[in-house]
Parts: sequence; structure tokens; C-alpha cells
Amino acid sequence: MEHKLKVYNTLSRKKELFEPLNSPHVGMYVCGPTVYGDGHLGHARPAITFDVLFRFLKHLGYQVRYVRNITDVGHLEHDMDEGEDKIAKKARLEQKEPMEVVQYYLNRYHHAMERLNVLPPSIEPHASGHIIEQIEFVQKILDAGYAYESEGSVYFDVRKYNADHHYGKLSGRNIDDLLETTRSLDGQDEKRCSLDFALWKKAQPVHIMRWPSPWSDGFPGWHMECSAMGTKYLGEEFDIHGGGMDLVFPHHECEIAQSTAALGKETVHYWMHNNMITINGQKMGKSLGNFITLDEFFTGNHQLLAQAYHPMTIRFFILQAHYRSTVDFSNEALQASEKGLARLMDAYARLKRITPTKESSVEVADLRAKCEEAMCDDLNTPMVISYFFEVAKTINLVADGKATLSESDVTELKELFQIYLQDLLGLDLEGASDSSSDAYKGAVDLLLEIRKNAKENKDWATSDKIRNELTALGFNVKDTKDGYEWSL
Ligand code: ZN
Repeated sequence: MEHKLKVYNTLSRKKELFEPLNSPHVGMYVCGPTVYGDGHLGHARPAITFDVLFRFLKHLGYQVRYVRNITDVGHLEHDMDEGEDKIAKKARLEQKEPMEVVQYYLNRYHHAMERLNVLPPSIEPHASGHIIEQIEFVQKILDAGYAYESEGSVYFDVRKYNADHHYGKLSGRNIDDLLETTRSLDGQDEKRCSLDFALWKKAQPVHIMRWPSPWSDGFPGWHMECSAMGTKYLGEEFDIHGGGMDLVFPHHECEIAQSTAALGKETVHYWMHNNMITINGQKMGKSLGNFITLDEFFTGNHQLLAQAYHPMTIRFFILQAHYRSTVDFSNEALQASEKGLARLMDAYARLKRITPTKESSVEVADLRAKCEEAMCDDLNTPMVISYFFEVAKTINLVADGKATLSESDVTELKELFQIYLQDLLGLDLEGASDSSSDAYKGAVDLLLEIRKNAKENKDWATSDKIRNELTALGFNVKDTKDGYEWSL
């Protein structure tokens, strides 16, 4: 494979040349959502980051098996040792099957991802569908001597492991510092050491999600699913493991320990983490009142939002920052992104109308190489976007008759818009154009206004015709007490 893709490896703390184990095949695992609530911005960033990596690896000619899991069991309310599973709790409160709760939120998650133009992964395994694999994995760790059973639960023996390996290598911690910052055991504890984490938990009577195991009726610890499903679908060693930075410790640290303990080797070659999202400079959190779901962004239906934001604006905004930088959401920043994206899309529309001349008066020849280089430099999407802002200026000059472009340069630019903005950054160049979408929204609103007047005049034929035709075109029209609502 002819390329110089470098990715930043969280484990080595440097950019490394990407060399897959089994080229042209690439295995990539990304920690997916915990489905007990609606997707929010924190879900959108890893999905979009690793979607761009998925697209770029395929662009380079690799055959990528992309696994993104669904956490639907074992994610407890407080920490791994206390509390109730969040999905089970919701199911109990709403008198639903846990899988009903999971499916409901999963459908909504998929819908939001589709709107953000995030490609579906190759495999989307559920933790609850891989209990047998997880039990086998726990057994391997027990057999290797790095875990112990206590009161029907199984815990990872961090101190024993740390004597042979380094627990904390991913997050740059060491066991002594960790011991200082965790609470000490109270003597009643099932664990030998406060750092030990659950591989299998015995279910309390309140738990409705439970499975039989050699140790107890219970459920796997949260970290176990990714070790078990990653190695099941990608092998004992695979290329890339990704996720949000908040997962580095303890989740990914524990995954490394589990896999090393069970298999006697490191599973993952490149650990990649996207940085976090803040809202108006603050961390997102339910208690802070700034917890905005993706649906709320798309509809503008939240007190902190000045307007609705098109999914492509959200995607563009996220990609305007490098994935390892923080991103701060504010109305001003989103509105700037909305304008920026509109500028690029308008330039693309103008490009398609340009009449080429014999020769170009401007230089565009090195754009392809520059974009490729930026993407190869640990997915420098903001750099790629800045090149296209330059191109937009050139196109506008040409359109205004102040510069010229040859036929081959026009063709080259059209192709680069397609490859980099449309296919690799996943921006829908035609669909989200501000001016065109405003016009189209205006047209639908106009039709519905006419229908409202028709209804007031008891002109049911016209009113029904408009409604039926819009429905046939795929619109959802809903009558409300103030008039109407519609969506596509
Ligand atoms: Zn995970």
C-alpha cells in the first residue's frame, strides 16, 4: 500500500506509521454507545471521527472490518461494584423488557447516525448477545491466575497482574498513585484490593438481566465485553482500537489488562482516542442542564439553542477541529460553521457552472497532494477544510471573471470536492446547502400555509390533496393546535 498514513497512538504517545498486521485487511474496533438514553454530542464525536478513519482507510485501498459494539448490559449506575444496571433500571421503572428499552434507543441512535452521514460499521455486536464468549474470557483469566472468585463474583487481581505487567500503561498511571486516590476497603468488601475490578458480578435479586455462569447467576463486568467481542471478530491481535478519551481509564486500561492476562500478549496495535466536547466551556452533564441530545440539535428544541442545526452543520463543526483537540459548542461557533459549510457548497455549485478556458490563471495542481498529506497526518481534517476555503475563493474569482480555469483543472477540482468533502469527510455537498435548503423549507411551509387556509375555508379537497401528495413524497405532516409541523 503506497501511503504515509501516520496515526497518534495513545499507548506510545507519538504518531506512528500505520502498518496493518495483515494488509490489505484492517481490523478496527470502536467502543460504541451505551443505549439507555438518547444520543448526544458525546456520541457524535467518536462516531464521526472513526467514520472518517473508516472512510480514509478504504480510500487508501484497505479492506476494513469495522466493529462498533452496543453496550446493553453491565453498565452500572455508580461504579462497577454498586448500583443497578442502567438499562435494567429503566426497564423496571417503565415495566418493559430490557431489550425493548435497548431497541428503542438503538433505533433512535441509528437514525441520528444516519442523519450525521455516519456509515454503519461492518459488525455491531451486542454485549448481551456475547455472554458465552465473555464467560470463556473470564475463565481464561482465572486459569492464568490473574483473577479470583469471591461470593459468586469474579474480580481481576490488579496487584498480581501489576507484578508481571504494567497496570496503567495506557493512561500513564501507576498502581501506587492509583492506590492513594481510591478508597480503602472496609473489610466487608468482596475484593482483595480497591483497584480490583469485576469481570463477573453475581446478580442481586433486583437484577432482571442475569445469566447462568460457573460462578453465579449474574452478568459480566463492563470492560469484559470489548475484550471478548474485539478478539472474537478481529482476532487475538488486531490493528486499531478507538473511542473517546474518557474511556482511556479505566475502560481501556482494564481491557489491556484483561487481554494481556488471558492471551499473554497485547491485542491492540494502535490505540486512538478522540478528545471531548464541552458546551459553552462547560463539561456536558445532566445536572448542569446543558445536556443536549442530537435530536434537540436537529430541531433546535432546547433552551440553550438559538436555532435548529442541520446534521451536516454538526458534522462539519466537529471536523473543523482536529479529533485530538477539544471542541466547544456554542451557538456562535455553530452559526459560523453553518456559514462556512454554505460557502463551500455554494463554491461547489458555482464550480459546476464555470465555463472552462484554454488555460488556468490560478494554480490548483498541488491540491490533491496537499489534501492527501493532511489526511495522512493523523487525519488533519481542519487542514483539508482550510484548503477548500482557499479553493472557494479561487472559484469565486473565476465565476466573477477575475481568473480562469482550464477544463482539466475544473474536472480536477470537481473530483477533489467529491473525494475529500463528500466521500472522506462525509459532507453532503448537495443536501445541506443553506440557501437551497432554506428555499426548500420555504416551499414546504408555503404549501402547508395554503393547506391551512384551505382547511379554514372547509376546502377539504385541496387540503387533503396537499397532505397526501407531501406524504407520498416522504414528508410527515402533523396537525398541531397552533397549525402544523412537518419533517422529512
Ligand atoms: Zn469498550
